[in-house]
Amino acid sequence: MSRAPALQPPPIHVETLGHLQRSGLLAECQVVLPTPAAGRTGGPTGEASLSGYMTLGSYKFHLRVGLPLAFPLRLPELTVLSVEPQLELPHLVGDHQLCFESETNLLLDRRDPWGIVQESLARAREMLHRLITGGRAEEFAQEIVAYWATPARIRLDCDVDATERPHLTQILFSKQVPIAVADDPFAYGQSRRERRADDLARQNAIYIPIDPVAVDPEFDPRELMKPEGIRKYIRALPEADRREVARLLGHCTQRQELVVLGVKRPRGERARVGVWFPRVRGKHPLADELAQDLAIPVALRRRDLAFLAPRGGAGAELQKRQVLIVGCGAVGGHVALILARAGIGQISLVDPDSFELENTYRHVCGMAHVDLTKVQGLRQELQRLIPYVKVVPYEEEIENLLVRQPEVLAQHDLVISALGSPTVEMHLNERIWSSTKHPPAIFAWLEPLGIGGHVLATHVPKAEGFSRGCLECLYHRPVEEGPLENRAAFATPGINYTRDVLGCGSTYLPFADLDSLRTAEMAARFALRILHRQLEGAPLVSWKGDALAFEKVGYRATPRFDAISGPFSEEQVAHVRESCPVCAS
Ligand SMILES: [Zn+2]
Repeated sequence: MSRAPALQPPPIHVETLGHLQRSGLLAECQVVLPTPAAGRTGGPTGEASLSGYMTLGSYKFHLRVGLPLAFPLRLPELTVLSVEPQLELPHLVGDHQLCFESETNLLLDRRDPWGIVQESLARAREMLHRLITGGRAEEFAQEIVAYWATPARIRLDCDVDATERPHLTQILFSKQVPIAVADDPFAYGQSRRERRADDLARQNAIYIPIDPVAVDPEFDPRELMKPEGIRKYIRALPEADRREVARLLGHCTQRQELVVLGVKRPRGERARVGVWFPRVRGKHPLADELAQDLAIPVALRRRDLAFLAPRGGAGAELQKRQVLIVGCGAVGGHVALILARAGIGQISLVDPDSFELENTYRHVCGMAHVDLTKVQGLRQELQRLIPYVKVVPYEEEIENLLVRQPEVLAQHDLVISALGSPTVEMHLNERIWSSTKHPPAIFAWLEPLGIGGHVLATHVPKAEGFSRGCLECLYHRPVEEGPLENRAAFATPGINYTRDVLGCGSTYLPFADLDSLRTAEMAARFALRILHRQLEGAPLVSWKGDALAFEKVGYRATPRFDAISGPFSEEQVAHVRESCPVCAS
């Protein structure tokens, strides 16, 4: 039988470990170079390491310094092999690896591998010193979620509010296997692909807030892996909470029980860790002072919006805001997805059209929902990616919706229109301005062949009333009795830029996905500024693209296009028309 030869560690690794051995930073050093068997027993094949002793106060740490194959692009791995006298330490993960530094914050000088090893050992020494001179309980409480992940043999999704008082929550089972613990199974169900929880069996579980550091300065999280250890911290709760725990435990009477502990941390909010009692005989192990039931640590993976949204830069405060998107084509599709990712709670979609194969290369949904309405397809896509967004579908023309349900505008915090139809948009603009109860609106539209796009904000409230300037203001009649023209236009008005591939009903304006994405991004930025009340006036912003393809086919750009020197133009009042019949009255 042949065996693949062991990878040789790079010479620089061997050299660096030799340097460390001679440096005296660690005592009784032993260099371990990989052997063919190391792949099975030790670290990954090819990884060189050194073990040695570091003495701090009365403690002697046996450390292993491993150089990952990618070193010096990656930090050395420091493992605590043993401590004498015996001591449980926080900041150890997985195989007792020491979290002495986060690589994401560091720029390593890859030309100085020895410097990296020295610096790593210095930081590890600092951390170990801090841990033996006090504050270990605080560090354990602070880092308990990471600590808990190592012994945990069960992992559950978690949407439990870490309240200051005990409360009942629910374990959710799929085919008798626990998959989650949630205060509100319905809300949890909305975040599943199935968007429901009624297929899951439920059972009560108890949430108990504890403050181990205040109770025991020698707090060691292993205590919480036994019923008597948890009972110790319950006994230290205020009397009202103790009674409440006793009462709630009366509702937890199954053969298997889950306890969620809300561990108070010195900094930041309470951590959530779980303890599973798989074989309960008689009373709940926390209700019986003598019970010594088997307890299994459960890692809880937070799945609640309050935790996830800020981690992605989304604003949890936008969860209550409702945006109406009129037109779910290329621009509207991008806008909807950007706003869902920004944390908007409700997005209403208006569009009567269905997806066609021709949409494939210029819609966020690609070819995924051909033959579905754009509203339904986009709704599925949004909820698949960001399950916390509620999508309200209107599979109809906006002009019909406004007749059927005139109050729809006032029911939203913002209207964004990307219809690509100036006539209907002028009508919508007028309707927006017809009531002080109506929200601000954003109009977004594209120019042909990548020469640009525009976004206009209007009906933005100010101290008194609304800032002047609207879509109607933009249009004028250069020739008396002649057609209306958009003064922002880049493509010379009066020319039909749509293309026709198959005859009636299949005309389209030529533009690419990047053009609609850019326009959608500007519209979404306006939207967020409006929702955060950071936008004033009625700004019109235009982005200017390359006119090469446009002019190549013989088209001419407008003087406004030629006059804009940079890639963007943002103007505040230049377009406001004193005699505007919509916004001046
Ligand atoms: Zn106006």
